[in-house]
Amino acid sequence: MDELTDPLLRGDRRALSRAITLIESTRADHRARSVQLLAELPQRQALRIGLSGTPGVGKSSFIETFGKMLTGQGLKVAVLAVDPSSARSGGSILGDKTRMETLTRDPLAFIRPSPSRAELGGVARRTRATVRLCEAAGFDVVLIETVGVGQSETLVAEMSDLFVLLLAPAGGDELQGVKRGIMEIADLVLVNKADGDLRATALRTVSDYAGALRLLRHRPQDPDGYPLALPVSALTGEGLTEAWGHMRHLSDWRRQSGHFDARRAEQARQWFHAEIRAGLLAQLERPDIIAILRKTGDDVAQGQLDPDRAATWVLEQLRSANRFA
Ligand code: GDP
Repeated sequence: MDELTDPLLRGDRRALSRAITLIESTRADHRARSVQLLAELPQRQALRIGLSGTPGVGKSSFIETFGKMLTGQGLKVAVLAVDPSSARSGGSILGDKTRMETLTRDPLAFIRPSPSRAELGGVARRTRATVRLCEAAGFDVVLIETVGVGQSETLVAEMSDLFVLLLAPAGGDELQGVKRGIMEIADLVLVNKADGDLRATALRTVSDYAGALRLLRHRPQDPDGYPLALPVSALTGEGLTEAWGHMRHLSDWRRQSGHFDARRAEQARQWFHAEIRAGLLAQLERPDIIAILRKTGDDVAQGQLDPDRAATWVLEQLRSANRFA
């Protein structure tokens, strides 16, 4: 057994951090060790909750208050991020030390920023593995946070058991701004900042979204009334007990119907396919293949080779290279 596995399974947070660093590494020997480490892990399950919302909506405040509520009940909470902006800039939405200050110091919580210097697909692949590590380390709830940009929401929804959309109180016009696709993957829509002067607007926003959600097709795997819109306040903590109650109700329901396991099985299949795709794409980074692509690309650009025929030829080269590798 890897010397990391033992402390990891005991829930040692330093071992968890080191294991995550290992699986984020692209070094060949690290890759081999992390593949082995993941294969050795026992199957333990946390509730995986995806959380999305545009910057400023109150994600970190929500995670802080919600996370404290859960650790207050004795639950172990891990917070991970899938951050498309860090993929570009090398920065991170969880990198800011001032975010989630209390939760960071909580011995029952573990917070890990998005891996940087990788494209979104790579970040998503590593996050899937990190979720597995957190589960093996005995966490009860894994929150996977993302900003509402591009493909990141779909990727996070695809690795979660429940997907929660956090919104700010807003007028009816802005309802249009939420993409239909996001509404379709959301299990809960939480309208944050339902406190003080914003409470009335928040309650109106909740009923706008409740109306919009009712127009969506009912999901056969869920009880009536879901997906659901609720008012919450990360500032006062109001509505968070109810939100947690709904998350548990929905996940218990899906466990009993078999949908929970079926969804995880499908996600495992998607992960497997994503690894295969990534492995195939990585072959295009090989120096010999890069040289072939450049040379053949030049010939195509100069009209000396037909694009379709050139592609077929290169793919044949790849196949025969693999055969003798
Ligand atoms: P994030 O960018 O989505 O992580 O949002 P933050 O958690 O940083 O919050 C953005 C701003 O909204 C901050 O000024 C927070 O104090 C404020 N905020 C967050 N949650 C609430 C809330 O429930 N009520 C009120 N009134 N303000 C909030």
